[in-house]
Amino acid sequence: MTKKFDPATAIQDVHLFGEFGGVNPSITDSATYTFLDEKTMIDAFQGEAEGCFLYSRHWNPSNKYLSDSLAAMEGTESAWVTASGMAAITTTILQLCNTGDHVVTSVTTYGGTFAFLKNYLTKFNIDVTFVNIADLESVKKAIRPNTKVLYTESMTNPMLQISNIPELSRITKGQGIQLVVDNTFTPLIISPFQLGADIVVYSMTKFINGKNDCVAGVICASTAFIEAISDVNTGTAMLLGPVLDPLRSSSILKNLGTLHIRMKQHSSNALYLAKKFKEIGLKFNYPGLPDHPDYKLMREIMNEQFGFGGMIAIDVETAELAAPFMEKMQEAGVGYHAVSLGYFKTLFSNSGKSTSSEVPPEIQKEMGLSPGLIRFSVGLDNDIERTFELIKSVLVETGLI
Ligand SMILES: *Cc1c(COP(=O)(O)O)cnc(C)c1O
Repeated sequence: MTKKFDPATAIQDVHLFGEFGGVNPSITDSATYTFLDEKTMIDAFQGEAEGCFLYSRHWNPSNKYLSDSLAAMEGTESAWVTASGMAAITTTILQLCNTGDHVVTSVTTYGGTFAFLKNYLTKFNIDVTFVNIADLESVKKAIRPNTKVLYTESMTNPMLQISNIPELSRITKGQGIQLVVDNTFTPLIISPFQLGADIVVYSMTKFINGKNDCVAGVICASTAFIEAISDVNTGTAMLLGPVLDPLRSSSILKNLGTLHIRMKQHSSNALYLAKKFKEIGLKFNYPGLPDHPDYKLMREIMNEQFGFGGMIAIDVETAELAAPFMEKMQEAGVGYHAVSLGYFKTLFSNSGKSTSSEVPPEIQKEMGLSPGLIRFSVGLDNDIERTFELIKSVLVETGLI
């Protein structure tokens, strides 16, 4: 029997030593690098000097250490870390598409991604078709001869729909279409490349870093793709320059070592709250409960040991009811009324008014995004029972239960 892929063990098995024997690699503090001879410098410019660093926008040792660890986590040949999640997404799409090409995407994506696909790609005359990613027939129908990318999120934001990555991969394979999957909500939990995705992107700002102290992203892909984006003449990453600072790379690398413990705790806390929310009759979405429409699919594709993730979407129906509920939860100490996710503290915001505000109201309605949808990123609370009691008392106080 083949051994099941374990992304956390894959990270553990990356052994990096500092140049002076430190257990953490030394931090690169140079923008440029010396060459002993002219020939090696010329070769480096042509991408033919293995192991040589040229200039930090291209590659630097700190970014290489972090990239290699993330490639191990996904099981891809290579990876390239970026200055933000949006940089990872935009670099990937701009590298894959030329003027006149076409993209098919899930209609439910992160708001910034939606805005890029809807408003920005028109500059390049790249057409985008938005589909319900769960409806595989409509995905097939949307594909055209000039389609280059099928884009989705493993767990969509903010609806927490699960993408059927194996089926989507079957649709794109052999068609010259790259399946690009944003796995920001489910690192370790879902391994998109193992399931047939071609390229996996992340906002590391969220769970991977987990400290809310920086924005960062990564593109995990084949060596050929990473070489293409970092090509000095034609590479989107090299030419647009969304490089991550090496100081940040080294701090994120240290946080990657605890990701598996954090994901398990986020997941078990969220599952606890979801069960309690069900008991008190709250309307919410969590793919870890059997009545969620994608529960079965998630069970099939997930790496079981890390749970169902830390995201819950509560629906209180209207924005007017959501506002005092969130304000009072912050006052009560449940967490912070803030956008973003994957932090050790609980974060909550009204999706339609914040991270999905780029999505026009009529499309929000079409994708089933309720104006009272509160996206909850459950923190690492040690006493989640007490957290639930706090939430419950605020629900009573605001008349929601
Ligand atoms: C936050 C987020 C992004 C964007 O990442 P940044 O690091 O903020 O640029 C992309 N996709 C998803 C799913 C996100 O949650």
